[in-house]
Amino acid sequence: MIQDKIWLSSPHMGENEFKYVKEAFDTNWIAPLGPHVDGFEQDIANYLGGDVHVAALSSGTAALHLALIILGVQAGDEVICQSMTFSASANPIAYQGATPVFVDSEDRTWNMSPEFLEEAIKDRISKGRKPKAIIVVHLYGMPAEMDRIMAIADQYEIPVVEDAAEALGSSYKGKPLGTFGAMSILSFNGNKIITTSGGGALVSANEDWIKKSRFLATQARDAAPHYQHTHIGYNYRMSNICAGIGRGQMEVLPRRVEKRRANYEFYKAALADYKQIQFADEPNSDFYSNRWLSTILVDEEGNGISREDIRLALEKQNIESRPLWKPMHLQPVFADSPFYGDGTSERLFEKGLCLPSGSNLTNEDLNRVVTEIEAYVKVKQVV
Ligand SMILES: *Cc1c(COP(=O)(O)O)cnc(C)c1O
Repeated sequence: MIQDKIWLSSPHMGENEFKYVKEAFDTNWIAPLGPHVDGFEQDIANYLGGDVHVAALSSGTAALHLALIILGVQAGDEVICQSMTFSASANPIAYQGATPVFVDSEDRTWNMSPEFLEEAIKDRISKGRKPKAIIVVHLYGMPAEMDRIMAIADQYEIPVVEDAAEALGSSYKGKPLGTFGAMSILSFNGNKIITTSGGGALVSANEDWIKKSRFLATQARDAAPHYQHTHIGYNYRMSNICAGIGRGQMEVLPRRVEKRRANYEFYKAALADYKQIQFADEPNSDFYSNRWLSTILVDEEGNGISREDIRLALEKQNIESRPLWKPMHLQPVFADSPFYGDGTSERLFEKGLCLPSGSNLTNEDLNRVVTEIEAYVKVKQVV
């Protein structure tokens, strides 16, 4: 018998999302602007501590694209980007006709290595190609080494764009992720910790930039009764319907973080006896992860079980798991881009697996995942 599917990370609605959406219908605010959009932006700003401004957009990718445009990234420029990430971190660099320069990860956080970041900056400057921006990512919710990365960025006077798409609810030294960069982005795609079915946000302490992003995101219409344009515009704004979902999701976000962190603790305790399975602990109390996804590293040495063996064993039982992000410098589409590193992200990719991590997983679901992993690992050990 095929058991119910256990998803990697599926949407999890709270109590009031539908109420807000119905309100949008009842008032006929079925548009890429409206009271929910303003309210959702305010909810996010409040959650992030209130010192920031927020533009609600159609996706995290759109937010990254606008961030690069506002920072003046143009054709022929170079932008530094963490190699280990989802392609959406790097694609907007190419939209601008610029070249990504990829930087490897470090073992501690799996995020951008400060050493290789500095090496990359020095080398690009020595070639007369000072990078225009640095895109740092907080993978799976784990904060990057923000003190060191910001210090290097400040020293060389290069703005940081923080890709916090996976890290809403995480913090570094008590400060929410999404508030470190000159600009930061969030995603509310269907698989993220909260979702608006599709959406994103641009966050910055610089209100002018956020105003500019809203202008560019609504086709760059100048103040005139007719359609008048002095800039190239985009159709990147979030709809009032999606923002209604977002308002409901913001109410439950603290609970979603709590549950995702509990998933991680559950897996860690349940699989503690298997020495070939390692967990990605927070390096110290400065790092607080929302545990968007629970991830493991599977050491093939010893019994020859790989992360791919475990993934396929889970798939047979109708359980979705997924390898870690394949680094961008290994992607065919970015084969010509420079890379600075020592193979850390490649190693993580080969060994790493994301386990089902939704905030809607039941204890039964979690037990099923662990039981299948144990069964597979044990049988293999006996053979
Ligand atoms: C999801 C994601 C994005 C893109 O967000 P969308 O809303 O799907 O466009 C960007 N970067 C990272 C690291 C992501 O995980």
